[in-house]
Amino acid sequence: MTPDSRTDMIVSINPSTLEEVGRVPHTHPEDVPDLVQKAREAYPAWRDKGIDARIEIMKRAQDLLLKQAEEIAELITLEMGRPFTEALTVEVEASVDLLYYDWKHAHRFLRNRRVWLHHPFFMLRKSYIHCQPLGVLTNITPWNWPLLIPLGVIGPALLSGNAMLFKPSEYTPLTGDRIRDLFIQAGVPEDIFINLHGSSEVGQALVFSDTEKVFFTGSTNVGQIVMEQGAPSLKKIVLELGGHDPAIVCEDADVDISSSGVLWGAMNNCGQNCNGIERVYMHENVADRFTDLLVEKTQKLRIGDGMDPDTDIGPLATELQFEKILSVVQHAQKSGMEILTGGNPIQDKKGYYFEPTVIRCDPSGPEIPDDEAFGPVVFVRSVQDDVEAIRLANDSQFGLAGSVWTSNSRHGQRIAQQIESGSVMVNDSVCSFGITEAGWTGIKKSGVGWMHGEKGLDEMVNMQFINIDTNSKSQNFWWFPYGPDVLKGIRVGMTLLFDRNWFKKLATLPAILCHLAGYLLINRKQSKKL
Ligand code: NDP
Repeated sequence: MTPDSRTDMIVSINPSTLEEVGRVPHTHPEDVPDLVQKAREAYPAWRDKGIDARIEIMKRAQDLLLKQAEEIAELITLEMGRPFTEALTVEVEASVDLLYYDWKHAHRFLRNRRVWLHHPFFMLRKSYIHCQPLGVLTNITPWNWPLLIPLGVIGPALLSGNAMLFKPSEYTPLTGDRIRDLFIQAGVPEDIFINLHGSSEVGQALVFSDTEKVFFTGSTNVGQIVMEQGAPSLKKIVLELGGHDPAIVCEDADVDISSSGVLWGAMNNCGQNCNGIERVYMHENVADRFTDLLVEKTQKLRIGDGMDPDTDIGPLATELQFEKILSVVQHAQKSGMEILTGGNPIQDKKGYYFEPTVIRCDPSGPEIPDDEAFGPVVFVRSVQDDVEAIRLANDSQFGLAGSVWTSNSRHGQRIAQQIESGSVMVNDSVCSFGITEAGWTGIKKSGVGWMHGEKGLDEMVNMQFINIDTNSKSQNFWWFPYGPDVLKGIRVGMTLLFDRNWFKKLATLPAILCHLAGYLLINRKQSKKL
C-alpha cells in the first residue's frame, strides 16, 4: 500500500513484483460521521425487510461469489501474495461455505428462543429471547485473509438485519471493494454496506463514531488501542487478535506425517496466519528425527510468485512484515539460537521474499520469545514429557489456537484440553478457522468475543429477554403496599421453597394456605373496584 498524497488515492501494491495492482480513493476521517448517518437512515428499512428476504439476498451473494471465484482468488494473490491455490481454497471456497452455512441456519439461530422458568412465582409466564438487530456495525479487518475474515462478520451482520461500515486493510483495498460489489449486486442497498479506505486514522474515526458495535480483527497492540478508544462510550467490541500458537509433537507421533502437517501449519500463507504454528515442542525421543524431516521438507518448499501453480510460498505481504521477520531472526541469532535452515531475505527476487526458516531453541538456553512473528519462521524445542510441553505451550500471553500431533487420539484430546487457547486441533492445524460450525475466539491477549457459527451470529444481535404475565387482572404480592403480612409471607415462602429440611417445609403449609386465601380475597376486591 502507498498513500499517494497528490491524488488522494491508496495504491495497492503486488508484494511479489512491487508493481501497482490498482488504486482506490482515500476516505477522509472527517467524513466518517456522515457515512455512519447514511447507514443509520437506511437501517430501519433493511431491518424491517424480514429474514426471508435477506436470506434470498445471501443466496445470491453465495452464487455470485462462486461464479467469480477465480477472479477474486487472483485479486487476493495479486494484492497480498498468497499462492492462488490457497486463495481459491482457504479464502474463496471457505467463504462460499460460510455464506451457505449462515443463511441455511439463519432461521434457527435468529428465532425467538423459549425460556422455561423454574421459579413458582414465574413458571406460568411466557418467556423468550428475542434477537433484535443492533443497528449500524463497524468491521475493521487485516490484510492476511482479506476475504474470509471480513465475510465472517459481514454475512451474519447483514443477515440479522444490521447495516455495516467496512474498513478493509489499506494493503488489500481492492479485495475489500470486490466484497462490497458482490453484496450490492446481490441486492443489499448501497447505504446498508459502506466501504471506507484508509489507514489507522480512518479506523480510529470509525471506533469513535456513533456505531453500535465494533468488530476488529488485527494485532493485539491495535486491539488494545481500540478497546481504550471505545471505553468512554462503553462501545460493544469484538476483538480477534494475535496468536503465537504452539504445536506439541508427542512421543507416539508419526514423525513423517506430523512434520508435513507442522510444516504446512507454520508456512502456509508465508506464515502470516493468526493461528499459524510458531512454536513446536517435540518429545525428546522423537525430536531429532522430527527436526531433520522438518528441515529437509522446509528446504524443498518452492518460493515464488503466487500466480505460478508450482509455488508453495509467496512473498511476505508488506515491507513492514518483511522487516519484522528479519528482526525476529536476528534477535534469535543474537540470543544464541541455532538457525537450522533459512534465515535470509531472498535477494534475487524483487518482492518481499524471505527464506522459510527453522530455528532451534536449546532447552538450556533462552526460551522462545513470547511474541507473534507472523512470517515463515518456526521455532523448535525438545521437551522431556507432555507435562513440560503443556507448561511451555501455556506460558504465553496469547491463547488463540494450538495443535497436538499423536497417533493416539485419546492422548491427543487429553493434551488438547489442557492447552489454554480458543481452539486446538489434533493432527491438523490452522483450518479450524474454516470450520463454520466452530465458533472462533481467542483467550488471554488473543481476543474478546466470537466469530463464526451460532456464537458469531449471537454477537450481531441484542439478545432481548421478553417476559409476559398473561394474568393482567391481579397484582403481584411483592408490589406496594408493603407491611407485616407481606414480610411474614415472604419468610414463609422462602422456607417452603429453599429450606432443605422437609419438616420445616411442611410446618409452613398452614400459614401458606392462610396467605393464599388472603391474597385471593384482596385481589378479588381490587378487581371488583376496577
Ligand atoms: P493491524 O492491527 O495493524 O491492523 C488491523 C486493521 O486495523 C487494519 O485495517 C488497520 O488499518 C486498522 N487499524 C490500524 N490502527 C488502527 C487504530 N488505531 N484504530 C482502528 N483501526 C486501526 O493488523 P494487521 O493488518 O497487520 O494484521 C495482522 C494481525 O492480525 C496479526 O497480529 C494477526 O495475528 C491478527 N489476526 C488475528 C486474527 C484472529 O482471528 N484472531 C485473524 C487474522 C489476523 P491499516 O491496515 O489500513 O493500517
